[in-house]
Amino acid sequence: MNRYLIEKEKEAIERLKAFEPEKEPYYLCYSGGKDSDVIRILATLAGVKHEIHHNLTTVDAPETVAYIKTIKGVHINKARYPDGTPKTMWNLMPKKRMPPTRIARWCCSELKEQGGKGRLKITGVRWEESTNRRANADVIRVVGKPTATQKILENSGLSYTVTKSGGIVLNAQCGDNETVRDKKDFVHHCYIDRSVTINPIVEWSTRDVWEFLHHYGVRSNPLYQCGENRIGCIGCPLSGTKSMKSDFAKYPKYYESYIRSFKKMIDERKRLKLPTQWESGIDVMKWWLGENPDQLTLFDENELYEAMQEV
Ligand code: SF4
Repeated sequence: MNRYLIEKEKEAIERLKAFEPEKEPYYLCYSGGKDSDVIRILATLAGVKHEIHHNLTTVDAPETVAYIKTIKGVHINKARYPDGTPKTMWNLMPKKRMPPTRIARWCCSELKEQGGKGRLKITGVRWEESTNRRANADVIRVVGKPTATQKILENSGLSYTVTKSGGIVLNAQCGDNETVRDKKDFVHHCYIDRSVTINPIVEWSTRDVWEFLHHYGVRSNPLYQCGENRIGCIGCPLSGTKSMKSDFAKYPKYYESYIRSFKKMIDERKRLKLPTQWESGIDVMKWWLGENPDQLTLFDENELYEAMQEV
């Protein structure tokens, strides 16, 4: 590894050691992608207690699920409704009454981000991934109870930033009158009843990630060898129309499942007498793939808000 990366590795390890929970292990969010492979290796190198968790979204690529199953000790979790039945993309669609979109990513909160409540999480989030990540992430990110959180920070004299998405972020550098101990105390105080993530590789470049993985001989998800740059869900609306279409060409059974669940969603909208311009699942798919941009204003704020409430 080049000397800059060796320094970054040391720094990431120090971050993981600095915030390690005293009683239970870290909750390591593992997607099966290259960034989460890096944090998995770093957690082992740091010698910190950690559990590796993958939360199934039910639209994970089969290759990704197969790769994750080869990782020693990984917990593969399924989201469930309060009565214990499994939550899926398909049975959530009529309940949400709209497809997931960039501004209403209800499937992330219902399926992917379930788990890890009351635990200190580690993620492989990096600034280079998107402008959104650059604006809303740092080494420490806290979501929930913003007023009380800011008060604790003010009282401890720790500097922080409030992001546009409403989270509070702190970097790992300690300014004048700040100590690592204060930051650790803050993190440990907050993670029980807020969502707190430690992002040890937030400033790493994609090149750093690959160099690190090659150095440690990690095979990584086979989809990278098939030309994928990012590993995500099949038909993820965050990946853009081109990628969605290519997913559906590659996984036609998932395309059919989306069409069927869109139809159930239309039926539910009609039953509730909500406005809909769609008659078939294919109509919805065309809209979803951006072939009819006029419909982008279809959902009002109330509907968007309701879709983001946990079922
Ligand atoms: S499809 Fe996209 S938005 Fe939905 S859970 Fe997967 S990553 Fe999140």
